[in-house]
Amino acid sequence: MDAREARLDGTLVERGDPDYERLWARMVWNGRKPARYPEVIVTAASERDVPRAVRLARSRSLRVSVRSGGHSWCASSLRERSLLLDLSRLRGLTVDPDRRTAEVQPGVTGGELAAELDRYGLLFPSGHCPSVAVGGYLLSGGLGWNPGVFGPACASVTGIEAVTADGEVVRCDTAEHPGLFWAARGAGPGFFAVVTRFRLRLRPLPSAITTTAYSFPLADAEPVARWITGVAEELDPSVETGLTLATAGPDVSGASPLPKVVSVTATAFADSRQEALRSLAPLRDCPFAHRALSRREEEPTTMATMYDGCDAVWPREHRYAVDTLWSDEDLGRLMALCGEAMARAPSEKSLFLVPLAPASRKPELWHDMAFSVLGRNYLVSYAVWADPAEDGAQLRWLRRTMDMLEPLGTGHYIAEADLPAGLSRAERSFTPDGWRRLEALRERYDPDGVFPPCLPR
Ligand SMILES: Cc1cc2nc3c(=O)[nH]c(=O)nc-3n(C[C@H](O)[C@H](O)[C@H](O)COP(=O)(O)OP(=O)(O)OC[C@H]3O[C@@H](n4cnc5c(N)ncnc54)[C@H](O)[C@@H]3O)c2cc1C
Repeated sequence: MDAREARLDGTLVERGDPDYERLWARMVWNGRKPARYPEVIVTAASERDVPRAVRLARSRSLRVSVRSGGHSWCASSLRERSLLLDLSRLRGLTVDPDRRTAEVQPGVTGGELAAELDRYGLLFPSGHCPSVAVGGYLLSGGLGWNPGVFGPACASVTGIEAVTADGEVVRCDTAEHPGLFWAARGAGPGFFAVVTRFRLRLRPLPSAITTTAYSFPLADAEPVARWITGVAEELDPSVETGLTLATAGPDVSGASPLPKVVSVTATAFADSRQEALRSLAPLRDCPFAHRALSRREEEPTTMATMYDGCDAVWPREHRYAVDTLWSDEDLGRLMALCGEAMARAPSEKSLFLVPLAPASRKPELWHDMAFSVLGRNYLVSYAVWADPAEDGAQLRWLRRTMDMLEPLGTGHYIAEADLPAGLSRAERSFTPDGWRRLEALRERYDPDGVFPPCLPR
């Protein structure tokens, strides 16, 4: 069958077609691609292609797997016995600057959205890497910029348009299909409909974004974590704070090979220089400042610069294995353990990111959504390498590290959890009530199992 026979505006490629392998490889951003092969890949060129593709899949007894930007680390869109519906060409974006709202289609990337909003002096908490599409990011909850003020990104989603398992187009918000809307704010790869449009609430772009950052020897991970935990409690919610354990960047000069470091970054989303300095003032009393291998204090920055910095953290055409953990354990203890794992990491590109309060400290910013904050602290562990021959060693490092941390864990984050590592990862990304509600909604909206559940198979 071809796209014309299927009455699609976009394209249709069957497994076995000459173009299939090349297209299949493009579906996943991670250089490490699991050997799971959809029967058909439909690239939608219009919203009306979506119900058509869903009906086509049903008529061929295939499941529908969906892809927006292909940034799922574990390639959750690649499924056996499926029609893979690629939405990356759905990139419509309209902004209403007076109402401070936007409508976006799922293939729009965070970087594209930020650049467009910048023209109107507006901001949305997209993911930290500019190439991440809004589709899978918003569905997962979305841990993005300035979380103390925005909460998870999905808290700023006010409605969606979606195509259900029987091919019906529905609008969902807190009044219409509230259950489906609740699920669309956090279910991630376990969502059981296709989102074709998100309505977003925007905020003014702060005009004096300012960053303080210190890097210390990795051996200081524990005391630095204890110090920043105390400081973060005092900081204004508009200061985004995090720790990174990684190989030092070019700002640490002179050493060869570059040492591994623990870095603290605090970014004030402020509206004036004075406000920024006031917000970052608690960091000035850093008791370890004299041991810093590099420091940037109260430097003005922009969203574009911050996006560039984040982009460099995840080099393209590399291989990745990633996992997450929420934990109520003391951050100092967690960082001591992560520091030991970091010292053993077989790749100098691997790292840990530890955003402090990544979804805000205010529970009112994460209520009425499937996304769940499951612990006091949160970390993401990334194995990053280039050579396929190292797959075994790199994956072993990640899995051993996470096995060591798991007893201290209280859950995972569905967007970046290593779902193939364990059956419980998906379920443990939600509260028990949240998981039960998701399962009940799936039964109601997708009784025939058109959309596959979270675990990639
Ligand atoms: C470099 C990098 C940086 C990242 N940074 C962040 C970050 O700062 N914060 C954060 O929270 N996450 C981050 N992530 C994780 C990211 O949010 C998730 O991987 C997310 O799924 C990516 O969205 P996507 O559309 O590219 O996903 P895809 O791989 O296209 O899709 C993943 C799954 O989402 C579902 N899905 C996607 N689109 C739709 C749709 N329109 N309708 C229905 N279901 C859909 C499908 O089940 C699909 O299998 C990052 C990932 C990468 C690779």
